[in-house]
Amino acid sequence: MKIAIIGAGISGLMSALELVEQGCSVMIFDQQQAGKAASWAGGGILSPMYPWRYPQAVNQLAQYGKSLYLEWNEKLKPVSDIDFEIHETGLLIFDEADFETGLNYAQQFQEPMQQCEYLQQEQIEQVNPFIDSKFQHAIYFPQIANIRNPRLLQSITHYLKQHPQVEFIEHCPIEQFQMVNGKVQSIVAQNSQTYEADQFVITTGAWSQHWSEQLDLEIPVHPVQGQMVLFKTPENWLPTMCMNDVMYLIPRLDGHVVCGSSMADCGFDTTPTAATKQKILDACFEMVPELAEFPIEKQWAGLRPGSPTGVPYIGKMPEIDNVWANFGHFRNGLCMGPASARLLRQLMLNQTPLTHPAAYSTERLKSAGLMAQ
Ligand SMILES: Cc1cc2nc3c(=O)[nH]c(=O)nc-3n(C[C@H](O)[C@H](O)[C@H](O)COP(=O)(O)OP(=O)(O)OC[C@H]3O[C@@H](n4cnc5c(N)ncnc54)[C@H](O)[C@@H]3O)c2cc1C
Repeated sequence: MKIAIIGAGISGLMSALELVEQGCSVMIFDQQQAGKAASWAGGGILSPMYPWRYPQAVNQLAQYGKSLYLEWNEKLKPVSDIDFEIHETGLLIFDEADFETGLNYAQQFQEPMQQCEYLQQEQIEQVNPFIDSKFQHAIYFPQIANIRNPRLLQSITHYLKQHPQVEFIEHCPIEQFQMVNGKVQSIVAQNSQTYEADQFVITTGAWSQHWSEQLDLEIPVHPVQGQMVLFKTPENWLPTMCMNDVMYLIPRLDGHVVCGSSMADCGFDTTPTAATKQKILDACFEMVPELAEFPIEKQWAGLRPGSPTGVPYIGKMPEIDNVWANFGHFRNGLCMGPASARLLRQLMLNQTPLTHPAAYSTERLKSAGLMAQ
């Protein structure tokens, strides 16, 4: 079976990986260089930021993130020579209003990833001595890890490019589906070249609304900009991830600390601003004042594929037999990435799904006209 995947972010690359491992042939397209959009820009926290604020369908996929990335890193590393570092730092949350809900959530769902402890100041100091003493309490999630997402994307890309059943086509915007008898026969690129396949997968992240008109669907996915600031501290300096008021610090093993992030609706604009940078710095220095002594290396913005509830669309598109979706992951596409792709592959190949697929159904995309029929 030949499958064309449109979009080479984490959703497309992971889908390709799952499908080639099952013996499928895959063509993967991107309008720019692979792995340079939201999936590159993100922080790589392997959990929704405050899981209890999300629908269970998001947490359901996210809980597989760490274990599946550990498996993929072992498989890809010998080929790609890239370790994308699943860094087991744990996460401290200082939002007092969330303490009770967070502890109850952990108790209720008993997910290994969401084990949670309440800490007083002396315990916080043992876990992370750089936290400002104004934070007298925290809840602590020792199991939550982060990954170096740019390296993850490089590793998968490298693996796929050397795979004999993969054709990798970058800098090739796909514009249109060509339909014959209610089935897509081929896709048409901006340069008018056409590509035929048996099945087609849409993994176009924040750009997914592009397909609404052609497929007679209402795809409510739009870009939500997020900005980040990168610091360089000594190796292994900050021991845990830290979060307060939806702002966070993510330490990497080599001393880089990723700080973010903002949320703004400004179309496809990815220009970082001085005002947002200041907001991020204020929030992060409040948690970890000593960070201000270290240099800033970079600032950037990325476009999250914003969807109404944050629950992605995974599965066959309504009314068309050979077009599939894996998009709309909003703030959690990196942690949901491996399980989303696995679920898609299981649905495409008629295998037992790892979770009930109804919550991710593309039936939610049916336009008013179609639903009335
Ligand atoms: C600042 C920030 C912080 C984040 N932090 C986290 C985090 O800590 N944890 C987490 O889980 N998630 C995080 N996210 C969210 C996560 O990054 C996204 O949900 C995820 O990357 C979406 O992946 P994707 O593959 O669907 O989209 P993308 O990575 O955007 O990939 C879509 C790809 O499709 C291509 N494309 C689009 N249209 C076409 C077309 N017509 N033809 C060909 N190619 C096309 C694009 O060029 C792009 O490469 C963060 C996001 C941001 C911006």
